[in-house]
Amino acid sequence: MYWDQLTSPQIDALDRSIPVVLPISATEQHGYHLPLATDRMIGDHICKHINEQIEDQILILPIISVGCSEHHKDFAGSLSIQHNTMLNQMADILDCVVSYGFKNIFIANSHGGNQGIAQSFIEKFGYRNPEVNIAFTSWWRIANDEIKDIQESGPGGVGHAGEFETSLMLTIAPHLVDLDKIEEKANISTYQWAEADLISGSNVSLYRRMNEVTKNGVQGEPKYASKEKGELLTNKIVAVYVRILKEFKKGL
Ligand SMILES: [Zn+2]
Repeated sequence: MYWDQLTSPQIDALDRSIPVVLPISATEQHGYHLPLATDRMIGDHICKHINEQIEDQILILPIISVGCSEHHKDFAGSLSIQHNTMLNQMADILDCVVSYGFKNIFIANSHGGNQGIAQSFIEKFGYRNPEVNIAFTSWWRIANDEIKDIQESGPGGVGHAGEFETSLMLTIAPHLVDLDKIEEKANISTYQWAEADLISGSNVSLYRRMNEVTKNGVQGEPKYASKEKGELLTNKIVAVYVRILKEFKKGL
């Protein structure tokens, strides 16, 4: 169910153990071939498919569609909010949710730049609300084991606007994907120990603005993308979300 599609009495009648999902995303550049809304559309897409499978067992909040994207601002069109704004936005929304008695909260992220702040947030919010279970993940992390074999592009190929995000967008909104604008090998290397993509993390987190690690805003190899891969990714990611959200509802 979607929180904002219900009436107030309908919300009030719900079992308070139902997991409340807060999707968080971004509006930022995704190279020359994907729209600014890519992360928001992927987040909406995953939630829609989860909802189709377990509609009566989850409650999806309105998505936060502008996230922490300061490192993308050298590329026009990227919107960003400060870390403190993001923290306050998540806290204000979830304080309301908790005030109505809901106890299981799940933050579902679709933007790399939100990961650090979302982890800080659950540590702070969880400590302040000991009666609440709060969890956070990103789509590439929750299903890492299930989706890593889909990758064909090799190390570094599934980064920002790369093989996986482009595949998902070919499934979600092919009319917004401009395959003719895809360029090869846009990644700019730094240190070997700082190399990473969405599937394989690095040994060290090295801060770089996006224009220092990519020539055109893309990290990875979108030329390996396909609609079929987008559908496969959707099925695998949604299956793991469904399993974990059911367990989350049941409690320990
Ligand atoms: Zn993205």
